[in-house]
Amino acid sequence: MANTTRRLPPFTGPVLRPGDPGYEEEVSGFQTAYAHRPSLAVGAVDAEDVRLAVTHAAEHGLPVAVQATGHGLSVAADGGVLVSTRRMTDVHVDPATRTARVAAGARWGTVIEAAAPHGLAPLAGSSPTVGAVGYTLGGGIGLSARRFGYAADHVRALEVVTADGRLHRTGPGDELFGALLGSGDNLGIVTAMEVDLFPVPSIYGGQLVFDAPLAQEAVETWRQWTAEAPEELTSTAVLFRFPDLPAVPAPLRGRYTASLRIALDGPAERGERLVAPLRAVGERLVDDLREMPYAESDTIHREPATPHAYTADNALLRAFPPEALRAVFDTVGPRSPVDCVVDVRHLGGALRRRGPARVAVDHREAEYVVRVISFPGPGTDPDEIRERHALLRGALEPWTVGHSLAFLYGDGERADEARTRAGFEPDTYERLAALKAVHDPHNLFRLNRNVRPAGAGPATR
Ligand SMILES: Cc1cc2nc3c(=O)[nH]c(=O)nc-3n(C[C@H](O)[C@H](O)[C@H](O)COP(=O)(O)OP(=O)(O)OC[C@H]3O[C@@H](n4cnc5c(N)ncnc54)[C@H](O)[C@@H]3O)c2cc1C
Repeated sequence: MANTTRRLPPFTGPVLRPGDPGYEEEVSGFQTAYAHRPSLAVGAVDAEDVRLAVTHAAEHGLPVAVQATGHGLSVAADGGVLVSTRRMTDVHVDPATRTARVAAGARWGTVIEAAAPHGLAPLAGSSPTVGAVGYTLGGGIGLSARRFGYAADHVRALEVVTADGRLHRTGPGDELFGALLGSGDNLGIVTAMEVDLFPVPSIYGGQLVFDAPLAQEAVETWRQWTAEAPEELTSTAVLFRFPDLPAVPAPLRGRYTASLRIALDGPAERGERLVAPLRAVGERLVDDLREMPYAESDTIHREPATPHAYTADNALLRAFPPEALRAVFDTVGPRSPVDCVVDVRHLGGALRRRGPARVAVDHREAEYVVRVISFPGPGTDPDEIRERHALLRGALEPWTVGHSLAFLYGDGERADEARTRAGFEPDTYERLAALKAVHDPHNLFRLNRNVRPAGAGPATR
């Protein structure tokens, strides 16, 4: 292994090696099934630290990974350099231009909080603890995705350190700019982004939760209902069993449920009218639909905030007919031998439309994304989980146009070349591979869902 201890550059943030106090904390993240084990973890405080880390890695022939929160960990570093951006949390809102400048490590919650006093909101997703930059570089399907489209389509500028150790500022019209949006850290480490904010001070939404006997009917009703949904309405159907734990409210504890999650950019009266057919399914265990300040929008999905182990697959579907819903219930529904959370998001609307920048987010014809998430750990068999997820993918094949790399969790084959290619249309993958050959010919940024440089030999980690 190359010696990484000699001649360290003058970093401002901490530099940690295995065994150092603080190393374990620095490398850990939201995903606990596996973690980065770099030979050097750089706790970057600014773009210059990122630049120095990349330059140092390039000089020593070491691969580079980047981590903000660990929500999207794909390939864990085993050696190499980890750039940890968790200290780079600055967010600056400019109400006049309706933009936010967001540093690499900021979470959506910080951006939401900074924008709210101006009556503005970012295109954040279901969880405020997700990193804003990592989310946006993966496309970014937000709470109001059908109205505004992908977060990646609303970026004004990116500041990025490329493999040659240079810091660039790129914007719409630059080839690198469009290619960065959708390809994660394949072409560099983004140190900050400037994104559009939207005048959305409040939102109508929440959950309708139905008990097991009504679960299938609730999701079938939702499925039919989405066909007529206006673009201001983005919704998700989730099937899962609440854990049988004291922390869970008694009426939900241990129950298999269908939860319909609603987000409408519009007033409560309109929301109430629109959701009437869903309420008509029957009694709800939870019905908390209401108009709320956008700053409370995390209560729509109530995503877990505590780090845990998870693995997930997904399929982007051109249609979600009754046969597809039956396939979901038959493969990963209540009788599945492994616990599966199923999350079907309604796409379409503005997500179909491409902006002028050649943003590398594909499969725009998808009308739904079906996700399946399981939790490896004691008492679970990873092969059984893999097999269940594969059964679902196989059953949905007739309607599948590809998958979303942002919703693929797990290492090993879930991050292999075939899976990465399926995240893009073939032309986009070739464009990214050609740019990779220019900007990262030695594949320094390979600890990810890797796009290999055009003309490169077999994959190495
Ligand atoms: C609970 C949960 C809820 C989610 N909800 C949504 C949702 O509603 N909509 C949606 O679209 N996605 C959602 N996601 C997916 C999420 O957008 C991706 O997992 C994303 O990669 C997370 O980014 P991160 O920075 O938080 O994670 P990290 O694990 O820190 O980073 C993941 C990857 O992002 C890239 N990355 C991060 N920072 C940089 C950087 N500075 N420069 C270059 N590349 C970088 C790298 O490829 C890195 O490996 C969710 C994920 C979870 C676990």
